[in-house]
Amino acid sequence: MTRARMPRPHEVAAARKDPRLLRALSERDLDPAWRTRGLCQSVDPETFFPAPSEPADAAVALCRTCDVQGSCLAWALDVGDCHGVWGATTPRERRAMLVAWRAEAPAVEAPATETLAGVNVFRVLEQVGAGSR
Ligand code: SF4
Repeated sequence: MTRARMPRPHEVAAARKDPRLLRALSERDLDPAWRTRGLCQSVDPETFFPAPSEPADAAVALCRTCDVQGSCLAWALDVGDCHGVWGATTPRERRAMLVAWRAEAPAVEAPATETLAGVNVFRVLEQVGAGSR
């Protein structure tokens, strides 16, 4: 078994701008019952836990059509889960997102005074229309 390497700075910088992460920020705590509404409820769980050498494309594609993908990804980042596909992300993608998420998470519960890379995430969400939900 090999240890996962730490994400590189450019990977974290890209993760900070990833629309999936921004959606997770806006939909965090939005739907406590998100698990009951996930499209994966009707799919073989193995689909979401492919072996490291197998592609995760099928699971990621299904997640992209799931209404609760933001809440799902927020949960995975909150618990730091790095196994399987959650919210249309692979474990490798989430490692970089996790660094950005942990820097931003306290600001989600407080007024939007913290920023990601100097950008007010909540202002960005308002501008793209994601902050109105
Ligand atoms: S985003 Fe994917 S893993 Fe999460 S609930 Fe939806 S289908 Fe399931």
